[in-house]
Amino acid sequence: MNRRYKTRKLANMAVLPLFLVVIIGTVIFLVGHYTKDSRMMTKALSSSAEEKGNIRLTSSNNGYRIMIDAGHGGKDPGAQGRSGIEEKHSNLAIAQKVYELLLKDPQFDPRMTRSDDTFVELDERAAMANEWKADVMLSIHGNSYESGNISGTETYYRYENGIPLAMAIHQKVVEAMGFEDRGVRENHLKVLSLSEMPAVLVETGYLTNGAEEAVLLSEKGQIKAAQAIVDGLKQYFEGVE
Ligand SMILES: [Zn+2]
Repeated sequence: MNRRYKTRKLANMAVLPLFLVVIIGTVIFLVGHYTKDSRMMTKALSSSAEEKGNIRLTSSNNGYRIMIDAGHGGKDPGAQGRSGIEEKHSNLAIAQKVYELLLKDPQFDPRMTRSDDTFVELDERAAMANEWKADVMLSIHGNSYESGNISGTETYYRYENGIPLAMAIHQKVVEAMGFEDRGVRENHLKVLSLSEMPAVLVETGYLTNGAEEAVLLSEKGQIKAAQAIVDGLKQYFEGVE
């Protein structure tokens, strides 16, 4: 009796560690399995959010990437204003002001396709935005016409994904400048066509119109235009989120 009892007790003692090994092993397996699952799920959710509408929703360390493109430059003067001043200069002045305003705002990470009076090919401008994976391509121009009577602000997009951005910027520029609203229009411009992200080109006003040129060549007018463009960008990204 004593001996049999002892034997059974010994047998139980031998089974116990084995039982514990099985339990612990199962727990480790289950924890590992579910952790891996939830990690994969988090990854899937974040990547689908990032890809939504070509817009990076998670402004990483540097914020939304805005490629600011001052139209023309160098050997390409652009339009000639009423006073004879070339378009490339006022484009750059406004673009630089947009850049400085965005630089102060941590939600943005701005770059420029040109920061001085140099010539850059149109496809190279788009390639700069594409390679950087910019969130927005923003081209700044001044309009012209053979007659000085034509005036107003126009904003162009090429693809559907550029429409909300074009609308937001156009509305702010029209409000701020007070020029005639000539609308948001589709335009197959090379710089817009080759850019892979939402891309717009804003013609703030007509340089061939004396009154509008005077505003666009003034420091005050350029600041107003730059601030309006930045306000449009902010509104656009608020709408996205
Ligand atoms: Zn132009």
